[in-house]
Amino acid sequence: MKTPENVKINGIDYAIKLLPQWEMGKHTGFAFSWTQQIHLTKESTPIYRAQDLLHEIIHLISSEYLGEMDSNGLDEAQVVALTAGLFNVLGSCGINLIDMVNEGLE
Ligand SMILES: [Zn+2]
Repeated sequence: MKTPENVKINGIDYAIKLLPQWEMGKHTGFAFSWTQQIHLTKESTPIYRAQDLLHEIIHLISSEYLGEMDSNGLDEAQVVALTAGLFNVLGSCGINLIDMVNEGLE
């Protein structure tokens, strides 16, 4: 399975871009709802990149359906918990996000 160049959230395409760590600052993933982009660190290992992608998708789902983090959206701890939980559940169902991010985009 190949990573798509976009993910669709609430009918909106978000571009997935791999950037070098020096451009990412202290972050390994970042979601930009206002420009419809997800940035991930190019140098991350596949497992970190997969978890970062899922994490940023959850942030965007939250902002699309609940509101921004400073209003009704999920807070960082809730996003971290959902990422870990979903990552494990999807893996147990044979949906391997690590393979997905490892095969695409490079
Ligand atoms: Zn976050």
